[in-house]
Amino acid sequence: MSSFLPFALPDIGDEEIAEVVDAIKSGWLTTGPKTKRFEDQFAAFIGSDCETIAVNSATAGLHLALEAAGIGPGDEVITTTYTFTATGEVVRYLGADSVFVDVDPLTFNMDPKLVEALIGPRTRAIVPVHFAGLSCNMEALLSIARKYGLKVIEDAAHALPTTCNGKLIGSLESDATVYSFYATKTITTGEGGMLVTRDPELAKRCRVMRLHGISRDAFDRYTSNKPAWHYEVVAPGFKYNMTDLAASLGIHQLKKAWQFQKRRAAMAAIYDEAFKELPVILPPHAPEGDVHAWHLYVIRLRDDVSISRDRFIELMAEKGIGCSVHFIPLHLHPYWRDRYNLKPDDFPNALRAYERAVSLPLYTKMTDSDQQRVIDAVKEILEC
Ligand SMILES: *Cc1c(COP(=O)(O)O)cnc(C)c1O
Repeated sequence: MSSFLPFALPDIGDEEIAEVVDAIKSGWLTTGPKTKRFEDQFAAFIGSDCETIAVNSATAGLHLALEAAGIGPGDEVITTTYTFTATGEVVRYLGADSVFVDVDPLTFNMDPKLVEALIGPRTRAIVPVHFAGLSCNMEALLSIARKYGLKVIEDAAHALPTTCNGKLIGSLESDATVYSFYATKTITTGEGGMLVTRDPELAKRCRVMRLHGISRDAFDRYTSNKPAWHYEVVAPGFKYNMTDLAASLGIHQLKKAWQFQKRRAAMAAIYDEAFKELPVILPPHAPEGDVHAWHLYVIRLRDDVSISRDRFIELMAEKGIGCSVHFIPLHLHPYWRDRYNLKPDDFPNALRAYERAVSLPLYTKMTDSDQQRVIDAVKEILEC
């Protein structure tokens, strides 16, 4: 019996390790030169004249972006129910309310046709989530936002790198885009995130709020020729800065982002081919010419599969393979359900997707034989 194949594992090379050691030896552990380098490198990666703000999680980045966009008590922010709770919770941090929208049944991305109906006098922003690394219909969402004067903050936790109509997510006309470098994401810094924006005022506010509302960050204080001890607090900010230890990982992870994406796409194609005769709905691909980040490979058990999704995951675990579910829709969680008095059927596409969805292992550390094990296990379970 081979060992357990986890659902996800990071892909960290010797370069990352050497960079972390270098950071430790340098004595600069918190936000400093390596974070600055990572930010500059990320801006170059996005490839437009954007500003980049490294943070200690995507959750922090989303919170900062919404705060800087002026979201506050009494406001409403439209987002998808088919996401991780971070997307919705940051809205509540600000005393505003999350208004959930159902998803497209094929892509699990928010359905722009349903968004417009939810817009009311309190609506201030839309937060699209590029599920699994496939872009939302940003053309439609941005045009709705323009029509109603709404901010758009993209939750791009799955979307590095993803393109939409040939443009990299992060370079579109939204107000801000936020990436996650959590341990399971397409590139990782352990914990971390990046906020990208082309709005200099928003960037300025996010930089100040990232570190206690202090007008100069530590690196600036220690490298500029003004007295190092002096700073001014201009707002009750947060503690959301990225450490140089994390940035050390990010510097090398980002260099491999396209290589990782190619490997993930190749693995997704192998799964597609292997499963095409099985009673499953395969994940949708990006339109011709566009890039899917393939953060997740999510299959859906067809209705004629007699076992439940939960049983399928148990059987996979018995065969030594870790699976997961993305996501338990927010409206099914007690907090969101009770706060907004939501019923499971209020979002029928999300509910149906959730009930039959399974995320299979898909990461660059997997070998061909690891992937073959997953394929054999899925076939054994579904072919009988
Ligand atoms: C992982 C994830 C987040 C949160 O990212 P952190 O870096 O862990 O804060 C937010 N939204 C989505 C859709 C995610 O998958």
